[in-house]
Order: sequence, then C-alpha cells, then structure tokens
Amino acid sequence: MADVNRSWRLAARPQGMIKDSDFAWREEPVPEGLGEGEMLVRTLYLSVDPTQRGWMEMDTYMPAIGIGEVVRAGGVGRVVRSNAPGFSPGDLVSGLVGWQDYAVMGSTGFVAPFKLPPGVPPTMALSLLGLTGLTAYFGLLEVGRPKETETVVVSGAAGATGMVVGQIAKIKGCRAIGIAGGPDKCSFLTGELGYDAAIDYKSEDVAQRLRELCPKGIDVYFDNVGGDILEAALGNLAMRGRVVLCGAISGYNDMRNTRGPRNYLSLLIQRGRMEGFIVTDFAAKFGDAVREMAGWVAAGRIKDRVDVVEGLEQAPAALRRLFTGANVGKQLVKVSD
Ligand code: NAP
Repeated sequence: MADVNRSWRLAARPQGMIKDSDFAWREEPVPEGLGEGEMLVRTLYLSVDPTQRGWMEMDTYMPAIGIGEVVRAGGVGRVVRSNAPGFSPGDLVSGLVGWQDYAVMGSTGFVAPFKLPPGVPPTMALSLLGLTGLTAYFGLLEVGRPKETETVVVSGAAGATGMVVGQIAKIKGCRAIGIAGGPDKCSFLTGELGYDAAIDYKSEDVAQRLRELCPKGIDVYFDNVGGDILEAALGNLAMRGRVVLCGAISGYNDMRNTRGPRNYLSLLIQRGRMEGFIVTDFAAKFGDAVREMAGWVAAGRIKDRVDVVEGLEQAPAALRRLFTGANVGKQLVKVSD
C-alpha cells in the first residue's frame, strides 16, 4: 500500500492573525508518477517565514497561494525518486517543499531547489546558511553598505534574519545595536551574539534609547518590522544614513492598510537613502556568500540559533509564533527524521 502524504491546504485567506480554520488537513497517497525534470522529495524540515502570511493573502513578489493548494513553504528534504538531471535518491535538497510530507518538485523555477553543500546540517541550511542568513548578508553588505566604525541598528534582532545582521556588522568592524521584544531576547543579543547594545521595544522608549545609544545618529538601519520602530529609527538617522527595507512584520496581519512612516522627510534632511530588496535578487552570488559565512562558522566568528517545533501538525502554530515573538532565532518545523 502506498505511503500517506499528509498536507495542510489553504482553506481561507487569513484576516488578522492566522487561525487554524484558515487551513485544511488532508491525507492522500504519495504521488506515484513523475514528469520529466521532476523529483519526489520527503520533507525533513520546514522553514517558517513571515512572508508566508503575505502569500496566503495576496499577490506579492510571488503569486498568492490558491485556495485548496498546499501551503507554500521552503524546507529541506531527501530525494526519494528522481527524473531531474543532477538529483539522485538520497540527496538532501533545499527548496519549496510546502506543508506536506512528500513534494513533487521541478528542478527549475523562481526558487529552484539546490543540493545542500556537503557537511551542512539541514537546520543550518535553512537558517544561517539559508535564505534568512543570505537576506542578512546581502541586505546589510550590498544594500546598507556599512563602513568600519559605523553604527548599525537592526530591528527583529533576535529573529532569523536580525541575529545574523548584527553578527556580520560586528565582523565588519561596526557597532551593532539590536531592537527586540523582551529582556531574554536582549540578553541573547548582547550576551551570546556580541551586540554592543540592545533595546527592548516592549518596555523601553525606542526613540529615546536610540538617541542615547547613537549620539552621532544611525548609519545603517536594517528594518525587519516597519511601523513605529521604523519611525523611531528614521528620526535618529545620521547624515547620509541608509535604511535597508527588508520587511515590515508589524503590518503583515493587516497588509491592506500598510502605512508609511510619517517622518519620511528625515531622509531628505539627512540626505539619506531607503532601499528595498528581495534576497533572490542576489541568487547568482549565493554560493560565494555561503562559502564566506561557512568560513565564519568554522572560525567561531558567527553563531546560529534555531527554534524547532516538532510535527507537521504544528505548522500553523509555528507560523503564529513569528507574530507573537515566541521564536528565538530561526523558526523551523521538524517533519521527519
Ligand atoms: P524572525 O525575525 O525570525 O521572526 C519574526 C520576529 O518579528 C518575531 O520573532 C518578533 O520578534 C518580531 N515581531 C513580530 N511582530 C512584531 C511587531 N508587531 N513589532 C515588532 N517586532 C515584531 O523572521 P525572519 O524570517 O527573520 O523575517 C524577518 C523580516 O525579514 C520579516 O519582515 C520578513 O518578511 C523579512 N524578510 C525579507 C526578505 C527579503 O528578501 N526582503 C527575506 C527574508 C525575510 P520580537 O519578539 O522581537 O517582537
């Protein structure tokens, strides 16, 4: 008898915080036939990403997930069968596996699957050496372009992307200041990750703390959250400061009412620059970036942190954790061994 493929399908376009009723659980036989260029992949880990909330609601830089479709998600899996050139049974691959046990994947596309570099654990391939680590790397270095001794401030600093931004800033000789929710996350930043200072936005006045900590202003602000924290950072921008527009999670549960910063004219007064990017813009350079970051890992200069929830059943709850701030580091779901 065929194995069962369990999946979560999108049942409704979420409004506000995602609810269990936005998804439908389905159990079906594992697909048998494979087309030319396709492979069957057994999911091991799912990457949990704020952008999935946007995909569920509307077209963004990718089309919205259709109602009834498997929820789109990145992840790592093991190839079971393959008609795809260059991929063989047993290979570990990273790609859009979706919220399901088994995925039929093509070998090309916007986010084409790729084989994990030898020796890289699946969790690190989805975190520090995966898309969030690469987002930090390219957003900071290519969009923010920090210079030695400059002050880099990052919001969402204890999350998957933010934790890497501050550590790379330190490697590049900058001052790193993180903004995160709660004293434990702030201690994680200054204690474990080597940030110079941390601001707890849930109990402190962010604008005032930024004024105190950055008397000469912020040279690079890496924005993961948008909203009030973006305004506080813009209000403390240094002359020729750069704002890296990476994401705005504070608004993702109400995407149709996104508002811009009221004080955007700070950019004019400070001759500043604000620039958005999507990490895949830099896909041609991913290999070089992974090699450089793997070197930093080997030299003990950068740390990874993953937050693993067990079981495909928990995927919706794991996604909610990003919006309540329950995760420290990269949120993953372990689906199978
Ligand atoms: P993450 O930071 O690991 O998780 C999200 C974090 O956001 C939570 O832990 C929470 O931390 C914080 N948060 C949630 N609601 C908030 C609110 N209302 N105000 C302030 N902080 C809030 O997630 P990630 O995957 O690394 O993503 C971070 C950002 O990068 C997101 O905006 C995402 O869309 C963006 N991103 C962009 C690209 C790109 O190509 N441009 C690629 C990947 C990710 P606290 O406990 O500190 O609140």
